[in-house]
Amino acid sequence: MLPRMTTPTEAPTPPTFADLGLPKPILDALAEVGYEAPSPIQAQTIPHLLADRDVLGMAQTGTGKTAAFALPILARIDLKLAAPQALVLAPTRELAIQVAEAFQRYASHLPRFHVLPIYGGQSYQPQLSALRRGAHVIVGTPGRVMDHMDRGTLSLHALRWVVLDEADEMLRMGFIDDVDKILKGTPPTRQVALFSATMPPQIRKIAQTHLKKPAEITVREKTATVANTRQRYWLAQGVTKLEALTRILEAEPFEGMLVFVRTKQDTIELSTRLEARGFACAPLNGDIDQRTRERTVARLKGGSLDIIVATDVAARGLDVERVSHVVNFDVPTDSESYVHRIGRTGRAGRKGEAILFILPRERHLLRIIEKATRQTIAPMELPSADAVQAQRMAKLKDKLLETLADPKLVETLASIRNVLADLEREKEVTILELAAGLAYLNDPSAGSSAGPSPAAKPALSAVEGPRSLPTGAGRGKISDEPRSPFIAKRRHEGDAEEHRGAPRVRPAKRSEGLETYRLEVGSSHGVKPGNIVGALANEAELDAHNIGRVQIFDDHSLVDLPEGMPKEIFKHLQKVWVCGQQLKISRLRK
Ligand code: AMP
Repeated sequence: MLPRMTTPTEAPTPPTFADLGLPKPILDALAEVGYEAPSPIQAQTIPHLLADRDVLGMAQTGTGKTAAFALPILARIDLKLAAPQALVLAPTRELAIQVAEAFQRYASHLPRFHVLPIYGGQSYQPQLSALRRGAHVIVGTPGRVMDHMDRGTLSLHALRWVVLDEADEMLRMGFIDDVDKILKGTPPTRQVALFSATMPPQIRKIAQTHLKKPAEITVREKTATVANTRQRYWLAQGVTKLEALTRILEAEPFEGMLVFVRTKQDTIELSTRLEARGFACAPLNGDIDQRTRERTVARLKGGSLDIIVATDVAARGLDVERVSHVVNFDVPTDSESYVHRIGRTGRAGRKGEAILFILPRERHLLRIIEKATRQTIAPMELPSADAVQAQRMAKLKDKLLETLADPKLVETLASIRNVLADLEREKEVTILELAAGLAYLNDPSAGSSAGPSPAAKPALSAVEGPRSLPTGAGRGKISDEPRSPFIAKRRHEGDAEEHRGAPRVRPAKRSEGLETYRLEVGSSHGVKPGNIVGALANEAELDAHNIGRVQIFDDHSLVDLPEGMPKEIFKHLQKVWVCGQQLKISRLRK
């Protein structure tokens, strides 16, 4: 809570996860994941599900709906009972895996918790053995779930919760009859939560037939005006979000900037990276004590700080006239947060700028925001490398003129002038040449258009990579330009002989970012961390110390590897066998 920074005109502080009645192991997991406060759909749904009420929720992907149903289920799951207690139906294999992974993340403090994704296309055998061993939560596509029910391999006698995720998508994909049948085959005492972005009549009918007096939840999309603020969005592709932000910071004149990210860890990670690139930047999140937060805001007001990287909660009520720009580095989970965020600029009648970074898969959120603000958000091009360079030169000129006009420097400049005059005489160089040399010494990048600004250089080496940063959900997410440790030897025509077998890679530096990969081998196949590290070390020719955390689950494992794995290694690792299983490596989706 930020009582001293909240003015009476601001929206009331939202509830915390603890306020919603979630137990400690879940709260501990959420703290590790870095969520600061429930999103609106979570705040509205969780209390109903905890109170045994059915829920009919209108919610899109990106609103936090997965946690809205996963958290209350995990809060009440009986870990001692190794039978499916929750069944989540999802339209696609990808979503089923994503939801299963979310359950696993939120259950990190629930010992021996098992979630099992089952979907079509995967061979039955591993699913059957995993089902026999018992899972607390099943996340499946309707067709495959029906199959298992028909074969008698999925027993739903202990089922307490059914979730229909993206029900309208299941309808669109022709699964609705299966969904209906599955629901009929579940115990009448189970609780149902149905989530859908839209409510076509067929979905309403499912709700009327199978839900008991559901709490209907729609996240209010309050319309709001943001008159003084120009809104633009950048569709994030081509370069990383960090690179995009750096270009904006270098090329776009700004006074103070607020950058919004999703988690507490990300505030620290991004702020550290921006500082390393020479920007006066600090994080602001709910874990930082009140005095430090107030000092940070005062520094932004006073001008000793130009950028604050914040979470929604921490920036609530923040009122600093100097904020000329708000950047939504991560898209918010609801349009109200968006309106609140961009309301931090355009204060006191000034003009403000709001920039939204949006991933291609988040485009639908852009439309929702436009609807809520009743304004179109214009696409923007990133400043070109030339524009960045022009801005650097303009800054250099300003700095030079300021220095020449500084009365405190009169004597110092006079003696430098004497040295230069001597040089001009003795070495026959022009003053212009000498000035160019000095400008280079001051800033080696002044005349070239590549690379981050020079102030970054000493700091960059001091703040390397995710391993020196706090661990958590954001680890390695904010990636720098690719500096991959996987430097596979290039395959040339005609030298296939030399490169037959495993592709070669250079060992990674410890400082590189990591990303998580899924391997289709797990404890049920008898795999141990050593097998995985050994196989990856051999097949990808990575040094074992560059292989990060290995987590082994029943039928799969997760492993953190340096970012930027080349395609050929990725393809090769798909086919590598470990403990009788092909790894079928896949990149974990965030
Ligand atoms: P979903 O709509 O469930 O796909 O979630 C969209 C994204 O929001 C995911 O990356 C989640 O990890 C993230 N998320 C969910 N709840 C929260 C929260 N309370 N605070 C911050 N991020 C969240």
